[in-house]
Amino acid sequence: MKHLVLKTQAKQEMIDITERLQRALRELGANNGVAVLFVPHTTAAITINENADPAVKEDILTALGKLVPAGAYYKHAEGNAHAHIKASLIGHSVTIPIQEGKLQLGTWQGVLFCEFDGPRTRELWLTVCAP
Ligand code: ZN
Repeated sequence: MKHLVLKTQAKQEMIDITERLQRALRELGANNGVAVLFVPHTTAAITINENADPAVKEDILTALGKLVPAGAYYKHAEGNAHAHIKASLIGHSVTIPIQEGKLQLGTWQGVLFCEFDGPRTRELWLTVCAP
């Protein structure tokens, strides 16, 4: 397993980590199999979506903000309940096939790390399962 460290810059953001993951796979010498990416945090998440038009990431964050407004009433006293809820809606892991050392993603797909309570130093755990 490889632990990647990410320093997020904003309160909420979606960061394209596709190239970084590809480099990490090369360092691991992964050839064929599946990559499992796991976010070990309760207010961050990971997903796969379009990385060509940055407006898609903005639209996702805007839609999540409407679904789970930061200013609404929540019982969680820490003040970041909206970030916990968004992290659970998006999810904490993705699985991606690897072939000949390359992540097998669709043409428009990228791997997006989602920060919902930043800026913070975050980790992403990468495990490769080979056949
Ligand atoms: Zn909290």
